[in-house]
Order: sequence, then structure tokens, then C-alpha cells
Amino acid sequence: MISTLNIQTHVPLAPLHTFACQTQAQYVATLSHVDQLGELTQRLARWPAPVWVLGSGSNIVFAADFPGTLILNCLKGRSCIAEDKAEGSAVWRVAAGESWHEWVSQSIAEGWYGLENLALIPGTVGAAPVQNIGAYGVELSRVCVGLSAWHLPSGKMRYFSADECEFSYRDSFFKRADQQNQWIITAVDFKLSKHFRPNITYPALAQCGHVLDSARAVFEAVCQIRQQKLPDPAQQPNAGSFFKNPIVSGDVADALKQKMPNLPVYPVAVDSNEAGKTIQRVKLSAAYLIEHAGFKGKVCEDVGVSSKHALVLVRHRAGDGRGVLSLSEQIKACVMEQFGVALMPEPILWPSVGA
Ligand code: FAD
Ligand code: NAP
Repeated sequence: MISTLNIQTHVPLAPLHTFACQTQAQYVATLSHVDQLGELTQRLARWPAPVWVLGSGSNIVFAADFPGTLILNCLKGRSCIAEDKAEGSAVWRVAAGESWHEWVSQSIAEGWYGLENLALIPGTVGAAPVQNIGAYGVELSRVCVGLSAWHLPSGKMRYFSADECEFSYRDSFFKRADQQNQWIITAVDFKLSKHFRPNITYPALAQCGHVLDSARAVFEAVCQIRQQKLPDPAQQPNAGSFFKNPIVSGDVADALKQKMPNLPVYPVAVDSNEAGKTIQRVKLSAAYLIEHAGFKGKVCEDVGVSSKHALVLVRHRAGDGRGVLSLSEQIKACVMEQFGVALMPEPILWPSVGA
């Protein structure tokens, strides 16, 4: 039976995003079954623009009223679609509206491994490929073998292989300026293993003091570290890391190390420039730069920088959070002035910066 989309108007956005600004959306259409996708495309032209796709709102900040339409992804379900008993592996298809953390927890409980480092990341399964979520040295791209997505303008379903998703550091095809909000990811395919292969190279895990000899042990250690270190959005609204860790050339990193010998730097890749010269790329710690620019714990009207973690901007209970964009601009300007490094916000921002 084909069900009809649930559409609401003038919807409060505080419960729909973890930064919880007291703003509202003109339209919210709740997608709860793939049968509704055709209706979605038919109605698109009549809905107020812009049209954005929304999961749990943990990587999006609505710092002003949203004059357009949000499509809230509530597709549910999961199943094993292929199993290779000899290899001890299986491909699981998980609907986009499922909770990411519940999926990680269920997969481990059922003896399928590979997602343990990605425990306790808020959000939905469908949003996870959008920024190729990552934590503690593991990225979604390591286990995602493909996904299904509905092309909103043409009303066609397409299967993307992992290569076609163009995963890179906190980035994918779906974050490209010309592709954002063109696709609704409906289901994601994961290849998991019966064999536990630990990845505990991050110091926080390597030095956590627990024996990490099973996926369950890693899962629990990750949950414990995250609960100690990160502000809980339910207690103190936030959108996780507000800036990406900048990736710069080896020369820039060396110059910064001269000035700040303790600056954490991580070699990430080797590229070549137009002249064919090899260039080392280095990831810097954005948290370190923000802290050393003097922002850790700083309060600015109704928002601030977490005193627990310099990369996390938080909304204070008293305010509506609308000052977040100006605080973010202040941080970017200060880090640029003091260190010559450009910071890029990680969450999607409304209004879009520069709009
Ligand atoms: P939303 O915030 O609703 O949407 C994010 C983007 O994805 C938007 O552009 C939206 O349009 C798009 N989108 C959402 N669903 C779909 C869909 N089905 N199809 C197409 N586009 C879609 N991220 C990490 O990578 N690693 C971490 O360790 C991590 N820790 C976090 C900790 C905290 C406390 C918080 C608040 C956030 C953290 N995040 C982290 C960021 C966030 O949890 C992830 O990016 C998550 O995948 C976002 O899921 P969501 O459902 O909330 O997406
Ligand atoms: P952390 O473990 O204190 O490390 C600080 C930074 O150093 C991280 O940003 C991490 O980069 C980098 N790093 C540490 N060890 C590394 C290694 N061996 N190789 C390469 N890079 C290394 O970080 P944290 O802030 O507590 O977060 C822990 C993990 O959860 C991180 O992976 C982080 O990305 C993730 N996280 C993400 C968000 C978000 O909203 N995106 C929020 C909270 C936590 P990476 O960030 O590239 O891993």
C-alpha cells in the first residue's frame, strides 16, 4: 500500500537538531517508506525552496528560521543480503533512517565486526556516508561497499558503489556543492566480518587501560572515552566538532612546528603539484589551534567554546544559539591571523556562510 507523506508547517527546529537553536522550518515532510519517494519528487516543484534532507540534525545548525522544506528521513529496517561463510563475512543493508549507534551496537551483539571504533557517533545511517564519518582511526569508507540513493530532481533510484561515493577525509560525492540535497540516501550496504581485526592505534584507545581483545571491549572503551571527553548534546546542545582538522602542506606544518613545537601534526597523504613535485600533506589539530588562539571555554552571548573540548561549540541554555555563526567567524579570523591557517566548518550551516 502506498502511504502519503506527512507534511507539517511552521515546525520548531530545536527538537530536530542537536545544536537546538529555537528556530523553525516552514515545511517538514516526513519520509517513512520508500513508496513515498515518487510523491516526493512530484510535489517538489510546489514546495518552498530550498529543499534540504535531514537525519537527526547532529551535523547541521539552523541559526535562523529555515524558509524552505526539510525532508526528514525516517526509513527503517535492516537485513543481511549476502553471506560468505568461507570468508566469514556478510553484507548488511541498513535503511537510512536507522540510528547509527544502535546499528553499531546490534552488529557487534550479533557477532559482526568492523564498526566498533565508530560507536556513539550521533545520527542516522543515511547521513554517515555524506561526510564519511570517522573516529579513532576508522572511517565509514572502510566498511561501506555501496548505497542506494533517490535522485530528487529526476525521480530515479541509483546504486552507488563505494568508489562512486568518492569518500575522502570527512567528505564524499554527496557533499559536493553541485550534489548537496540532490540525493536522498535510502539504504547503506556494509561488509562486516566474523573476525575481529583491532585498530587501536589512536593514543586515546591504546592508552585507555583496558584489554582491547574483542570488538565488544573496543566498543565499550570508545563509548567510555567519548562520554568523558565530549559534551552530551542532551545536556549541552552542540554539533560535535565545529571545524574540520585542516590539511596543509608539509612546508606549512614545518613552519608552524618551529613556532609551536607541541602542535600535533599527522602525515596523511602524498600528492604531486602541477610541476610533478611531490608534496607531503599533513593534518593539523584544529582543537590545538583554537585553544592556543585563546578560545577554549570562551562564552560569547548565547554560545561558547566548550571548556571540555576546544573543537566543540556549545549553546548555552539561556540563549537561542543564533550567535553561533558570528562566534565561528571570530574563531576563523583569529586562527588565520595568528597561525595563517584556514579553518572550515564541519557542520552544514543555515544560513549558509556567505549567503
Ligand atoms: P544531519 O545532521 O541530519 O545531516 C547532515 C548532512 O547530511 C546534511 O547535509 C544532510 O542534508 C545530509 N543528509 C542526512 N541524511 C541524509 C540522507 N539520508 N541522504 C542524503 N543526505 C543526507 N562525526 C564524525 O564523523 N565522527 C564523530 O566522531 C562524530 N562525533 C560527533 C559527536 C557529537 C556529540 C555530535 C553532535 C556530532 C558528531 N559527529 C561526528 C557529527 C555527526 O554525528 C555525523 O556527521 C552524523 O553522520 C550526522 O548524522 P545526522 O543523521 O544527524 O545528519
Ligand atoms: P583525540 O583522540 O584527542 O585526537 C585529537 C586529534 O588528533 C583528532 O582530531 C585526530 O584526528 C587526531 N589524531 C589523534 N591520533 C591520531 C593518529 N594516530 N593518526 C591520525 N590522527 C590522529 O580526538 P578527540 O577529539 O577526542 O576525538 C576522538 C575521535 O572522535 C577523533 O577521531 C575525532 O575525529 C572523532 N570525533 C569527531 C567529532 C565530529 O563531530 N566530527 C566529534 C567528536 C569526536 P581525526 O579527527 O582526523 O581522527
